[in-house]
Parts: sequence; structure tokens; C-alpha cells
Amino acid sequence: MSKTMHPQRVMLLTEQQSGMRFCKACNKLLPLDKFMPDKRKYTCIEHLKAQKREMNLGTQEKRAFNSIRCRARVDMLAFGHTKMMLSRPQVVSMLTDLQLQNFAEFAIVPRKPDQMLTIDNAVLVLSYQRNYIMTKYKESKDPAQYEQDLAFIQKE
Ligand SMILES: [Zn+2]
Repeated sequence: MSKTMHPQRVMLLTEQQSGMRFCKACNKLLPLDKFMPDKRKYTCIEHLKAQKREMNLGTQEKRAFNSIRCRARVDMLAFGHTKMMLSRPQVVSMLTDLQLQNFAEFAIVPRKPDQMLTIDNAVLVLSYQRNYIMTKYKESKDPAQYEQDLAFIQKE
């Protein structure tokens, strides 16, 4: 395509004639080599990659959330709570990207065990720390002891 050619005129040409295709994400005409050669895609390679990255991140967030929520639910029963209120965006907001990738190493526990798990009552700990304080709590059933153990862990 020559620099003087008007975009609207290019649209009237076939792709072979113009060597251009419109990317819906860029919202502009791009050379054909910016697209996957084998597929008739109307999203350029850069944008396809970005979409895939976003999808992978979404999948990872879902896995992290399910894992952390599942363990928090087990603890919820130990605390005698009937429910917890922690949404996926809230859980994700508590994790760095690196922590999100290694979600199995982390757990979310309530700061105050006699109150329902909500974002305001949520503390991020390492999974083994959670196992430690929960094992102790199941024996003692003592909220004050639990809070003391949790505070001690967080000082480490
Ligand atoms: Zn694009």
C-alpha cells in the first residue's frame, strides 16, 4: 500500500491487492504479516497473544480462588461459622502475581476466629502456618489462643 492511498479506498480492495487487513482490536488496517497466516482471523497476532495471556490469567485466578476457598470452607466449619463472604476479586486482590502462580502455598484465614471470614477479617498466611494454627485451634477451641498464634506467625 502506498502512503498516499486512503484507508477507505484500501477497504474496497481485496486483501491480496492491498496486502492489508483490518484488526478489530487495533481498529485499523495492518499488513497481512501481522496476522496468523493460516487462519482467517480479524485480530492481529499481538492482540491474539494478549487475549490468550488474559485467558490464562483468568484460569489461574479461578484455580487459585477455588483452592483457597475450599480450604477456607473447611476452616469455616471448624470455627462453627455457617458461611463466609470472600469473592474471587477479593481473594485475587490479596495475592501478588507470584503468589497467584503458587497459590497452593497460601491460605486465607480469619483474623478473629469468632467472626465470619470477610475481606476485612481476612489474613493471608502460608499453607503450613494455617495448618499449624488450625491444628492448635481444633484442640484448644480458644479464640484468644488462636489470635495469639496468628499474631506470632505474622511476626516471623
Ligand atoms: Zn490488533
